[in-house]
Amino acid sequence: MRAAGVKPAPFSYHRPDTLDEAVGTLAACGDEAKVLAGGQSLVPVLALRLGRFAHLVDLGRVGALRYVRDDGGSVAVGAMTTQAAAGRDPLITSSVPLLARAIPFIGHFQIRNRGTVGGSCAHADPAAEIPAVAVTLDAEIEAAGTERTRRIPAAEFFASTYTTTLAPDEVLMALHFPVWPGRSGFAIREFARRSGDFALAGALCAVTVDAGGRIERAAIGLLGLGAVPVRAVQAEQAVTGAAPADLDVTETGLLAVADTDPPDDVHATSAYRRRVGAAMAAQALAAAVAEAQAGVIQEAAHD
Ligand code: FAD
Repeated sequence: MRAAGVKPAPFSYHRPDTLDEAVGTLAACGDEAKVLAGGQSLVPVLALRLGRFAHLVDLGRVGALRYVRDDGGSVAVGAMTTQAAAGRDPLITSSVPLLARAIPFIGHFQIRNRGTVGGSCAHADPAAEIPAVAVTLDAEIEAAGTERTRRIPAAEFFASTYTTTLAPDEVLMALHFPVWPGRSGFAIREFARRSGDFALAGALCAVTVDAGGRIERAAIGLLGLGAVPVRAVQAEQAVTGAAPADLDVTETGLLAVADTDPPDDVHATSAYRRRVGAAMAAQALAAAVAEAQAGVIQEAAHD
């Protein structure tokens, strides 16, 4: 079917029923093809003619890519699971609370109702929440090509702004989020100019405390502070082994952004983003530690 006369440049529309068919169509069409998922990022790109593709491969009918399941030690989320469905899924809420808490920060509910978990990852906006959760929790991204399927560590998946290491003929199949056992706490904090906007900067934190109450494991992720979501490795090392009472979260927040160098843009200067990022990291760390100490997972309010 050929669509023409609309705002996007003309394209051929493919609607496969299976993953194999989708991968085969992508391989047959080469660089001229693009996967269409929820359309929340791709359709504006097409409509504004920021990009043009001769073939769109719509995954909307590939039901096998919509699921949330316990994989024993990790939770697998199929790429076509909508952000809204993932955000309210009981397994995600209980086992990957950082993901459930990050999703309400994505745009507006209309966007989350159509936008998919896989699409958000494949789009790779540096301020997007789901990629930042994936990097913070060391998630793996599963991709299918004509020759093989493979799992890519999140840290190796995001190459640059709007760019991933997916090959043109690969379909993102699923994200695998490790479950953090024990007394763990999780928090995301971010700042946007208006509700629903992409964040200027944000931070995510996961911590586990040991029986004596010391931090035995920490992960701190940052969004909006560079071309890809990053981990604040120095800050993680600084807090690991510490007793919560000895933590200086303000100092840790500053350490978290020490190696970042976001560019100035129309929304904020680099210095402002780093200042906001440090404050968000401090707040996220304090909240995650408090939750881990309390030993109960509580639903954080979306503010
Ligand atoms: P699509 O738009 O269909 O595709 C996006 C890209 O990913 C395309 O290049 C497509 O080819 C590729 N792709 C999609 N799925 C796959 C797959 N399975 N395999 C391979 N490639 C694939 N996002 C945030 O994170 N935070 C926000 O605050 C936010 N605010 C927004 C505000 C507005 C007004 C809008 C319109 C969008 C906003 N978004 C935000 C983006 C939103 O989350 C999108 O849903 C998401 O970026 C893309 O998901 P999608 O399913 O709509 O993918």
